Amino acid sequence: MNILITGGSGFIGSHLTRHYTNAGHHVWVVDNLITGNKNNLAGISPDLLTFVEQDVSTYDLKDIPHIDIAFNLASPASPVQYKKHPVETMLANAQGSYHLLEFARAGKCDRVVLASTSEVYGDPLEHPQKETYWGNVNPAGVRSCYDEAKRYAEAITITYHMKYQTDVRIARIFNTYGPHMEMDDGRVVSNFITQTLSGKPITIYGDGSQTRSFCYVADMVRGLSALGETEDIAGEIINLGNPNEKTVKELAEIIKQMTNSASEIVFQQIGQDDPKKRKPDISKAKALLQWNPEVPLEDGLVKTIEYFRNKLK
Ligand code: UDP
Repeated sequence: MNILITGGSGFIGSHLTRHYTNAGHHVWVVDNLITGNKNNLAGISPDLLTFVEQDVSTYDLKDIPHIDIAFNLASPASPVQYKKHPVETMLANAQGSYHLLEFARAGKCDRVVLASTSEVYGDPLEHPQKETYWGNVNPAGVRSCYDEAKRYAEAITITYHMKYQTDVRIARIFNTYGPHMEMDDGRVVSNFITQTLSGKPITIYGDGSQTRSFCYVADMVRGLSALGETEDIAGEIINLGNPNEKTVKELAEIIKQMTNSASEIVFQQIGQDDPKKRKPDISKAKALLQWNPEVPLEDGLVKTIEYFRNKLK
């Protein structure tokens, strides 16, 4: 197959790229490297990988050949990154999605998979979150550049399906962790691991009672590829994540113990609109994709800690 992955050098994108090149498919990666990292693609044969350094918000994909499945992953995705690049985040999701959908409408691509996010549920009033929940989102706060951009990306993606019968699928991706997270992306897993490994204080925002549910990246890649490859699910929106819910404080204690760290835990001011709880209902993914996350948190953390240990050497 010919696969297109926008944002293919980023955290999840680079694993998805490798998943397809390992299986012998050719992958076109379009990425402007604003938060991506070419090192994540090191060692992939140039026979199977074409890297196009372009910004999806302005690039109309004119050099890309016919594509079987396109994955729309281009966007800063951690709170620290999207708050640093708020306008770029909005345009990557708005104009980037538009360019990809137009590419499909022109007959150049058979399927489009949008990487949306659990952030479309905002600070959710329903728990766990099902795909039918519309969310509780602040349209004009510090997280809006990401939350509302992803909600727009969903809306334009579904609109092309309804208006032009474009074959689209939408993944709502919950917190994901693993190798290739950037050390300074500010996410809770990367922060806690780098802090414990370097003997710095572990920074918990707020009292640490807020929850997240953490999915290992290999499980996420299986979910995304299943979403792209399953027949007869055009127009479906599916949560992908691991329902194993933890408080941030529990996560800090697990990582502290796993790294044998003497780091103290410090409590700092929590950001505006930080969701109090988050856990996916994945019954739809189980039913339609026969997908289930398989990697337990401790196993995934062992691999992630190892990755960061090597980076810090
Ligand atoms: N968090 C924390 N300390 C950190 C980084 C994050 O307590 O050093 C908290 C953050 O406030 C949030 C949760 O961990 O409640 C997850 O944050 P992350 O930035 O990983 O992603 P989010 O799920 O908020 O998009």
